Amino acid sequence: MDEYDIVVLGGGSGSLVATAAAETGLEAAVVEPGPLGGACITRGCVPSKALIHRADVVTDVRNAEAFDVDARLEGVEYGEITAAIHDTVYEKADNQASNLRDSEGVSLYRGDGRFVDDRTLEIEPVDESEDERAAKIRGETVVVAVGGRPTVPPIDGLDDVAYLTSDDALFLAERPDELVIVGGGYIGAELGYFFAAVGTEVSIVGRSDRLVPREDDDVSAVVTESLANYCDVYTGYEAAEVGTDGDAVVVTAEPSGDDGDAGNESGDAVELAADELLLAAGRRPNTDTLGVEATGVETDDRGYVETDQFLKTSADGVWALGDVVEDQPYKHAADYEARVVAENVLEESQRAVDYEAMPHAIFTEPQVASVGRTEGELADDGRDYETETVPYDAAPMGMILEADDGFVKAIAGPDGEILGCHVVGPQASSLIHEVVVAMDSGGGTVDDVAGSVHVHPALNEVVYAAFDELADTDYSTAPDWRDVGGRD
Ligand SMILES: Cc1cc2nc3c(=O)[nH]c(=O)nc-3n(C[C@H](O)[C@H](O)[C@H](O)COP(=O)(O)OP(=O)(O)OC[C@H]3O[C@@H](n4cnc5c(N)ncnc54)[C@H](O)[C@@H]3O)c2cc1C
Repeated sequence: MDEYDIVVLGGGSGSLVATAAAETGLEAAVVEPGPLGGACITRGCVPSKALIHRADVVTDVRNAEAFDVDARLEGVEYGEITAAIHDTVYEKADNQASNLRDSEGVSLYRGDGRFVDDRTLEIEPVDESEDERAAKIRGETVVVAVGGRPTVPPIDGLDDVAYLTSDDALFLAERPDELVIVGGGYIGAELGYFFAAVGTEVSIVGRSDRLVPREDDDVSAVVTESLANYCDVYTGYEAAEVGTDGDAVVVTAEPSGDDGDAGNESGDAVELAADELLLAAGRRPNTDTLGVEATGVETDDRGYVETDQFLKTSADGVWALGDVVEDQPYKHAADYEARVVAENVLEESQRAVDYEAMPHAIFTEPQVASVGRTEGELADDGRDYETETVPYDAAPMGMILEADDGFVKAIAGPDGEILGCHVVGPQASSLIHEVVVAMDSGGGTVDDVAGSVHVHPALNEVVYAAFDELADTDYSTAPDWRDVGGRD
């Protein structure tokens, strides 16, 4: 049996802990059955955003006329787009595997790890070729970073029809003419926007009364309204049954009972036929095949690994991070947790995870970004807060871009402490960061954002304007062009 100081299960964000350990002179091992880099590089963030970038290019061409530019979309080379993205991301994953193999102090095992006891693992090779061999290894410390995979919801008839998940929808050789997406969360919304922008007729079935229902209500309302310009959106519905009709897949969607303001009010079931069905109904942790029952590692009733605030599991010497820990299913969160685990294991520190200033973004049209609490969460907690929502066209660049439905919503406590910020509109994923930095630097206040000088006429002036409204600024110079908003 091979013995290591640290064994990391999963070659996504967890591999950062192994390389950090090797840099301090420890012997580390990474166990990974698939491409290095985890879901993000080959099945998640990067290929999906590469596709969405193409969708944005198409959208810009289609909208060019609004800016008096005469442009026509002659076609979209769908297969070439997906092949090029596939090659790029797999080359990146191969490079990561080579780098890991070459790095001193890290051994790479190509296979599925399974616990035999708390810190001993059997590795089932993906195939018996090259350096892939069955092995038993033991770590003084073990890090569980095995991520998750798409959930397959219990829908009648699903066993008898072909369906896609996000794992296979990213690299289709041909564009589907019609697509039904089951799931109105961020993956369904992003892929719905992509496919619709490049010409697929898309229907999205979402159980809640809005798409991306975890966002602040005002944000999810804008996303739902905007995506309805691209797709047929069935919010307040859930897929009850699937079947086939000739070559078509047919989804019967019934009212979910979550009618809300924007939801399904008619109460009638609908039948949606398409040539492809994409399930985007959430993800589940990869702990079901990990043999955790042979260990003291506790999981919750959905299979997520339970940890304390230091990311230590209930088994001695076993840590967990990333999507296998439920809280924050984002790549940057998994990387942050890898830093926390590396510090706690390698320096024997007691660094607790802190998600207060953990941002996230959704790359639909318009983009969404958020940090901190939503207004709904604060209201549910009975917290005192004030909010200010400023439309993009309050700032000159927002007006230039004609980002009509964009806004920045700033939320602060009575003492000016920033409690949250929600942005919807162009470049939202970048705009959010000045608020993240303010929050992260400890007790960030609205004055920290409003007091900084902002480049004119950059979009960040919208963030500036929203926080300035909540701040106590003398001689304010925040732009307010709202009176010149509005166009035909
Ligand atoms: C379509 C899509 C789009 C996304 N877009 C974004 C985005 O824009 N921004 C963002 O922040 N996040 C995004 N995410 C989420 C992001 O990909 C994940 O949060 C991130 O990859 C989690 O990292 P991880 O290391 O925990 O898990 P993973 O990256 O999933 O890595 C876990 C690794 O463990 C391996 N593994 C599984 N079982 C075993 C085993 N038994 N033994 C050894 N290894 C095992 C897996 O093969 C995998 O490589 C997206 C996800 C999807 C699906």
